[in-house]
Amino acid sequence: MAQERFLGLDVGSTASKAVIVDSDGELVSKGIAQGGAGTKGPDEAMGTALADAGMDRADLAQSCATGYGRKLATWTDIERSELSCHALGASKLFEGVHTVIDVGGQDAKVLRLGRDGKLEKFVMNDKCAAGTGRFLDVMASVFGCDVSELSDYDEQADDVTSISSTCTVFAESEVISKLASGVPIANIVAGVHESVVDRTYGLAMRVGVEPNVAMTGGVALNDSLRRRLEKRLGYPIAASELSQFNGAIGAALYARRNFLSGRE
Ligand code: ADP
Repeated sequence: MAQERFLGLDVGSTASKAVIVDSDGELVSKGIAQGGAGTKGPDEAMGTALADAGMDRADLAQSCATGYGRKLATWTDIERSELSCHALGASKLFEGVHTVIDVGGQDAKVLRLGRDGKLEKFVMNDKCAAGTGRFLDVMASVFGCDVSELSDYDEQADDVTSISSTCTVFAESEVISKLASGVPIANIVAGVHESVVDRTYGLAMRVGVEPNVAMTGGVALNDSLRRRLEKRLGYPIAASELSQFNGAIGAALYARRNFLSGRE
């Protein structure tokens, strides 16, 4: 008998992520597209995941949406909160994880998971762009580079140029003036990363960090920033090339769980 397939769709603020898992919960395919809620992003991400798996939407046993724009994904069967999906996804991606630091495009959150992978406690910053991917996106555009290049710049830094403004708009002006006064980009990038680390560290302290620690969300792809955060926290932080898909993986696992429980 052909294996059932389950789709998870994370409709984020900046990017949409889709994954398909099989009936054992193992990853079959994935897709990512720029554009989150209210854009073509969700359909594109899902289209890529389906095409990679050689499937049509009708072949899915069940689908689940999560993320900021999940209410707009009307064609999915069920929906689950981002927190639930991040907890479930991280338990699958990172064995023995107890603290999940998720830094996405518009918010940052820290989740504490119990021994059974259940969400015990969380804190979230969804009020302010500082400390989120948005802050890094704005700075990357000032530097004239892609956000994925910030990590390499940081590696070349021989000093950290502190950014004193926490507000993204003021910090942007501060960065522009530092560039104009001849400070090397690499050192400013290091300061920008430290600013995000400050905010993330503050959130993490409110929840209390218990190892193992993992980082998810698109900002987890920024190795230099993650290393700075490791230094500050005093714990290694696991990340994976699938970190940005963590919410979608959790959603796909919920679709699978929901389908299988309905069958019992
Ligand atoms: P959301 O779910 O809110 O759309 P994501 O978890 O997808 O957020 O993260 C998006 C953020 O991740 C972007 O704003 C960007 O700052 C960061 N990001 C995305 N890709 C990369 C990359 N290759 N390297 C570093 N940062 C990245």
